Amino acid sequence: MAPVVRFAPSPTGLLHIGNARPALFNALYARRAGGRFLLRLDDTDAARSTAAFAAAIEEDLAWLGIVPDGVLRQSDRIARYDAAAARLRAAGRLYPAYETPDELERRRRRQLGRGQPPVYDRSALRLGEAERAALAAEGRRPHWRFRLDPGPVTWDDLVRGPCHVEADSLSDPVLVREDGSYLYTLPSVVDDAETGVTHVIRGEDHVTNTAVQIQIFRALGAPVPVFAHHNLLTTASGEGLSKRLGHLSLRGLREAGYEPGAVASLAVLTGSAEAVRPVADLDALAGLVDLAHVSRAPAKFDAHDLDGLNARLVHDLPFRDVALRLAALGVAGEAAEAFWGAVRANLTRVNEAAAWWAVVRGPVTPVGGDALLAQALARLPDEPWGPDTWKAWTEAVRAATGLKGKALFLPLRLALTGLDHGPDLAGLLPLIGRERAARRLAGETA
Ligand code: GLU
Repeated sequence: MAPVVRFAPSPTGLLHIGNARPALFNALYARRAGGRFLLRLDDTDAARSTAAFAAAIEEDLAWLGIVPDGVLRQSDRIARYDAAAARLRAAGRLYPAYETPDELERRRRRQLGRGQPPVYDRSALRLGEAERAALAAEGRRPHWRFRLDPGPVTWDDLVRGPCHVEADSLSDPVLVREDGSYLYTLPSVVDDAETGVTHVIRGEDHVTNTAVQIQIFRALGAPVPVFAHHNLLTTASGEGLSKRLGHLSLRGLREAGYEPGAVASLAVLTGSAEAVRPVADLDALAGLVDLAHVSRAPAKFDAHDLDGLNARLVHDLPFRDVALRLAALGVAGEAAEAFWGAVRANLTRVNEAAAWWAVVRGPVTPVGGDALLAQALARLPDEPWGPDTWKAWTEAVRAATGLKGKALFLPLRLALTGLDHGPDLAGLLPLIGRERAARRLAGETA
């Protein structure tokens, strides 16, 4: 049976590189197995969810190369959750509780003070009809808790192997708030059941939810999917990533000029059995990512590694793949392709090409007034110029001056580009052209 997976972010912020991890694990799993990948927007928190964030999520996934086979929004499906809640109530698995957050907090402290685990004591289950009516008459509205079955909940996790959570160690989870709105727990199960999700692949911060949700699947008579809980990306110092880390948002990384392939590779190969290397093609990446080989240790990553991965991708990018982006940077016209060939090996990000285009086109203020420059100017060959011009010219200058190595090349570079570093001048010189080169060698801004 072809698997069905889903990625289920809440549209309450921009996706960051840590969210790209479950998105990709799911999308790659579907690709590898010829299955379906659904995007589910967990937007039951109406106050914090926005249409703009939902649109940004779809856009950022598309940038990574992920196009869902279907999109669903939990806010469209409330009637389904109401129906499921009614069934759980009828089966005695969903019960009203009236404690205020303050009361619960006091009770929790008391339990901790006595050295007891802070598990909800189920006092609401013991309320009689009359007591409930009295609470309702006081104006209290209930929230609704799922009555857990005692005993161990077990599953075979694709990443973590055999897993086991004691239901007795958990509080009966609140599924419905006082105002009738749903927490994430029940809608997720209803959606997974009704959309035929076969594999729930998500971060290990959901392990406890899984125990609860397995019981809910069973209570609703729905098949229990396979679960996989991957480790979370953390910074090198071990901190988790939050949506507030704006600079690591996919949006921010894209705007900074990173390649989606570099971001995707870092997001999923970190903390796997594979060396972290740039793999731009999602099918190739899918072939490398095996949930059974994801490590259980935190997946520490260093955002600086993105530069190295990105540079490796950029160095191999053919002109046709970057032509439009170069044009948007103002790099266009007949020389654009030769220019790309001359500079790409020096770039970490494609957008850095703009600075070298400015060097080629000028105006550049030459640096240095080296005596060598007059000799170099006198020996500047006639056009047409090509890939061999630089070599022929500098050999002639070397013969005339006796200078070689850095003493020869650095003053020429400083005069021609205004900089002490940069792409191979054999590639740049023909693009700069004789007229500009001559003026720069003469000390003019050109
Ligand atoms: N909205 C949940 C989250 O972002 C989904 C978790 C899940 O995959 O079930 O954490």
